[in-house]
Amino acid sequence: MANRVTRTYVATIRNHRQVCEDLDSLGFAASKLWNVARWTADRIWHETGHVPGHAELSAYLKNHERYADLNAQSSQRVIQELAEAFQSWYAKRQNGDETANPPGYRKRGDEHPRSTVTFKEDGFKHDPKHNRVRLSKGRNLKEHWSDFILCEYEPDPDATVENVQQVRAVWNDARDEWELHLVCRVELEDVDSPGERTAGIDLGISNFAAVSYGDETDLYPGGALKEDEYYFAKERAKCDDSRSNEARRLDRKWSNRRTHFLHTLSKTIIEECARRGVGTVAVGDLSGIRERENGESKDWGSKGNQSLHRWAFDRFITMLEYKGEERGITVETVDERNTSKTCACCGRKDASQRVERGLYVCEECDTVANADVNGAENIRCKLEDAKVPPSPTDDSSVDRSTGWMAQPAVHLFDRESGRFTPREQVADCKP
Ligand SMILES: [Zn+2]
Repeated sequence: MANRVTRTYVATIRNHRQVCEDLDSLGFAASKLWNVARWTADRIWHETGHVPGHAELSAYLKNHERYADLNAQSSQRVIQELAEAFQSWYAKRQNGDETANPPGYRKRGDEHPRSTVTFKEDGFKHDPKHNRVRLSKGRNLKEHWSDFILCEYEPDPDATVENVQQVRAVWNDARDEWELHLVCRVELEDVDSPGERTAGIDLGISNFAAVSYGDETDLYPGGALKEDEYYFAKERAKCDDSRSNEARRLDRKWSNRRTHFLHTLSKTIIEECARRGVGTVAVGDLSGIRERENGESKDWGSKGNQSLHRWAFDRFITMLEYKGEERGITVETVDERNTSKTCACCGRKDASQRVERGLYVCEECDTVANADVNGAENIRCKLEDAKVPPSPTDDSSVDRSTGWMAQPAVHLFDRESGRFTPREQVADCKP
């Protein structure tokens, strides 16, 4: 039996330089329409005392000049979003929530931000053969009747993009460019789960991913990403103009390599899980990023770097989810709080726990573990605890052997083959 699910693929735009100006004008138009709708909703509310719904607001705005800047369905979506935001604020207010704010105007000084533009069935045309998607403009922004935006996107090597239901052009602030979200309807064959076992994944920078299976661990260092970051930042600094062809070419190359790394890693981890009979994978929900920002063990770099890393992790988790789905593996995000401070072996929590040279040393039970592996095992345990709540007297974990936590298998990204290969000499836990 086949299952119907909706899946969103995030894709980089290959010909960004050719289309970004056109996408900008749609993104600005969406912000202007939002502001008009925002103002109108306010007026209706003040004069009638009720908050207008989507249909009512549309009736007011259908003939507004700004409405025809976008394809009608795209304009509809902006108004719907505003109406929903307004109503959710109003509902909170009715419930006595004084801190709730109504949706704001989309302005940055005299400038407009680039709002997300949604294209529904008659607003786009997908060409799966050439990985292209054609996006409609509104009447006002067309130079001639057949004027449209033709975007070439970067395909996922492990997935087929078909049955596209909706396309969203989303401005990515961290990367300073547009990307496409392709919402697809996917027919999933029922796949048997590989088994009952669980795995936990801790994401980081030094080790991009540490995976714990409860008796074995794999480490995937982020060295290849770091080298790229260093190399491309240096090359880019040589460009006088950040908008120049050369700068764009470097950005594209960098981004392709990062995407390739993420695809390969997510695929590798899912295959390893399937091989070990893992049916559920837990991954930290990234709240830990903030925890670590405040002077913890991991160096998250500048603010710009943080959002770039965050972007990479978000994208990685999405890839894990749909690649897992194909193999019958569920990916769950769990609260990451305290997972780096708690001893995975005895459960001792210590805020001042010192991590030295990538090792977690427990003063209570003398466990020595790779710090990221300890985090990954704690994440995995959260999944197990949710299945069977631990009883307070349960001490089965106390005499468990923990040697495996100090000896993770390290897999390095090999650029030549485009694969992860085991590192032969594992002399030190820290890569
Ligand atoms: Zn301990």
